[in-house]
Amino acid sequence: MIQKFSAEYIFTEDGKLTAGKVIVTNGSGDILSVDNTIDHDGSSVHFFNGLIIPGFVNSHCHLELSHMKGKVDTGTGLLPFLKNVVTFRDINKDVIDQAIKDADEEMYLNGIVAVGDISNKIDTSHVKSGSRMDYYTFVEMFDFLQPSMTDSTIQQYKNVMQGQSNVRFNKKSYVPHAPYTVSPDLFKFINENNTSDQTISIHNQETLAENELFEKGTGGFVDFYKGFGLSLDHFKHSGKSSIHYTLANLQPEFKTIFVHNTMTTTDDIHSAISWNQQSFWATCPNANLYIENKLPDYKIFTGTKAKVTIGTDSLTSNWQLSIWEEIRTIRKYQSYLPLETLLTWATINGAEALGYEDRLGSITIGKRPGLVLVEGQDALSHNNRISRLI
Ligand SMILES: [Zn+2]
Repeated sequence: MIQKFSAEYIFTEDGKLTAGKVIVTNGSGDILSVDNTIDHDGSSVHFFNGLIIPGFVNSHCHLELSHMKGKVDTGTGLLPFLKNVVTFRDINKDVIDQAIKDADEEMYLNGIVAVGDISNKIDTSHVKSGSRMDYYTFVEMFDFLQPSMTDSTIQQYKNVMQGQSNVRFNKKSYVPHAPYTVSPDLFKFINENNTSDQTISIHNQETLAENELFEKGTGGFVDFYKGFGLSLDHFKHSGKSSIHYTLANLQPEFKTIFVHNTMTTTDDIHSAISWNQQSFWATCPNANLYIENKLPDYKIFTGTKAKVTIGTDSLTSNWQLSIWEEIRTIRKYQSYLPLETLLTWATINGAEALGYEDRLGSITIGKRPGLVLVEGQDALSHNNRISRLI
């Protein structure tokens, strides 16, 4: 069945909010054409007040942590936050499973069509295989920079890789957790066990202490490790910020998503882009506010033409899983950024980062991107609400 949708503005594939357009789809949601309104009989078109945009791509989530919603304090900083997460145990499996199911449904209803999802376990595999969204599972490895733990880590995560979902358009790859938790040998395993068409994700420069460890060999992470009985005596700091450790150890052949980047500088971004042009920068503003009460300075990204994507992070560090809520937060605190820029980050950039750009991310003939309605009194207000059209 042919359907026709129109609104005050359509977010068209040129990255602009365009008036006077009609989107024509078939019953499966494939885009058949994008036409001028005057070429269609008005009575055959569903017209909405507001904007129609393609479905969102959530480039950073941890679906398996959904049961921890509201359990960890806000505003403590990353190290106390991590300690809280690591020591949170003994949860009933039914509670975990239900929270994963609910979070998947919440993202779908919030207009999300694809998710880059960090997994340390296989708890989410079943839900991902039955989901109405596509999942790129990042099987996330860490050996706490301890050479003695590298082999057992690899064995453990081979099982996670095996058990994770790859039905339909779902994909999976091995990825490093963060510079401060992955040894050079573990990076080597990741380089050798992915192919160049795959995407890598890594948490990056989320807190000052992370840069301090690599620049000076001191700071909160040394004590954090000691607290778990782990020594960093063998670790040699380079004098450079933490992203340089990743650039030295990760092969540049993969699309790479750097996640958070709250402490990233212009120089860091230039270094990464000259290392690998397929570098993406995932921002998770609500999680940054939740954990560190701090946002990145987005001028650093727009000034360097960095390809930014948007993620929700997990319900452990967010109040909801909604890319639109992330956009609202950015517009609230850094309102100089045009809505078109944020919609580009939230749709086509995320689709490219995950390798889904041939089907998702823009209202383009032949794609099936999902359609989301943004409505409110003023089409461009940040107070608007969203709903899914298809
Ligand atoms: Zn994360």
